[in-house]
Amino acid sequence: MDGMVAPARPRIVILGGGFAGVSVAERLERLLRPGEADVTLIGRENFTLFTPMLPEVSSGALDVRHVVTPIRSQLRRTQFILGDVDALDVEQRRVTFTHTLTGARESIGYDGVVIALGASTSTFGLPGVAERVFALKTLEDAGILRNRLIWLLELADTVDDREQRRSLLTVVVVGGGFTGVETAGELVELFKSVGRFYRNLTPGDIRIVLVEGGAVLLPGLPAAMGAYAFKALTGRGVEIVTGDGVASADDNGLLLNSGRRIDTKTIVWSAGVQPSPTLVVAPLPKTKRGALIVGADFRVEGWPGVWACGDCAAIPNPAGVPYPPTAQHALREGPLLASNLVAVLRGRATRPFVYTSLGMMASLGARTAVAQLPGNRVLTGFLAWFLWRTYYLLRLPGLDRKLRVAFDWTLELLFPRDIAELRVYSRRAQSSAAADAGLAPREEPTLHL
Ligand SMILES: Cc1cc2nc3c(=O)[nH]c(=O)nc-3n(C[C@H](O)[C@H](O)[C@H](O)COP(=O)(O)OP(=O)(O)OC[C@H]3O[C@@H](n4cnc5c(N)ncnc54)[C@H](O)[C@@H]3O)c2cc1C
Repeated sequence: MDGMVAPARPRIVILGGGFAGVSVAERLERLLRPGEADVTLIGRENFTLFTPMLPEVSSGALDVRHVVTPIRSQLRRTQFILGDVDALDVEQRRVTFTHTLTGARESIGYDGVVIALGASTSTFGLPGVAERVFALKTLEDAGILRNRLIWLLELADTVDDREQRRSLLTVVVVGGGFTGVETAGELVELFKSVGRFYRNLTPGDIRIVLVEGGAVLLPGLPAAMGAYAFKALTGRGVEIVTGDGVASADDNGLLLNSGRRIDTKTIVWSAGVQPSPTLVVAPLPKTKRGALIVGADFRVEGWPGVWACGDCAAIPNPAGVPYPPTAQHALREGPLLASNLVAVLRGRATRPFVYTSLGMMASLGARTAVAQLPGNRVLTGFLAWFLWRTYYLLRLPGLDRKLRVAFDWTLELLFPRDIAELRVYSRRAQSSAAADAGLAPREEPTLHL
């Protein structure tokens, strides 16, 4: 394939089982004739995570299992390996991986490799931040954060001193993009929904602060969306700080660039991601941020047989500017990459990726949302919220998952959020931010008064 002496049956290896990787595999299954090529997908989880619903998992509105779809149920002809990709040797055309469960190290050769390893949380090397913050990128992150919020309530309920209660119940969300505003909105909903179970607490004990380094919320989207989100969240009690970034963090809170301090025990970090660190090992061309530089047809120039898409790749639009790293894009890039890969396999020409975004949406809780519609029009309030829910429910893979989420949403209208603490997460009480930064995660939960 593509300049290489092809074996009888070429092997295509896909790295990563997220939106991009699975959509490549699904399309390959449809396009490849029986026996035309073998396809293997290596992923560190055996499911695809539906990230747009993650903030609702952290606030207990949705069950953890309902926002993931098993990879094996989505793919029929693809071999799935549950493993962590450690290295990619593009000269020898081999991928080395460690089996997630046994720890055994193995390698597999390929004729074509699709790198779809996504992105991980970045705290930009800010002092004290990675090891203290709660990220919201993986399913485990959402579970850990949910437990943390419940612990805060449990502990604060036992404290007589009002100042101490307020200090415990101050949650700072850093990053005013769509994940940050959705998380802040969900926190308000959670505390409002379960507050009555904690009889020693008053609404005044709870403080939610949203910090955005840029001048407005939802940067990069139409200004009306940020303005609406600001009004809706402040109206529900969220304190919003804009134009002031985080300088550092310590055990008692955050220091902002302006010199302002915010005392808190709980920082939720949704201020940035960076392309997956594994990519560093490969001698492939990368942007300053670490994204793989690919052509408009997803091929890495100079490295025949190497393809990439999704959050880990910088895919140029017709003006040469990379497309944004969103699920919306990844889900469209994957199928075209698959069809280009098959075209190369059959000696045909590839097609460039050209896509105009449908717009972005952010749910703000309390049945309100903001949505950017085609033509840069903005929809706000209940209608936008209804559109958000309908669109994402339809995009969630698998009928059973759709029904489960619809059921969760219906129950949520009738009952308060679930405050049962899931101890299963307490052995690793720190979120992925520390691991992504190469720091050892804390083993045991620490929550000092
Ligand atoms: C909380 C949140 C909310 C979001 N909301 C939206 C939204 O509303 N709309 C939208 O369009 N986008 C949204 N996004 C962005 C969207 O999730 C990403 O753009 C999308 O997931 C990118 O798809 P991907 O396949 O490239 O990466 P991912 O979905 O991150 O998939 C990468 C996969 O690779 C695996 N992996 C990584 N490293 C390794 C390794 N070394 N070995 C094996 N496997 C590995 C990961 O476990 C993961 O399964 C949101 C993101 C977050 C975090």
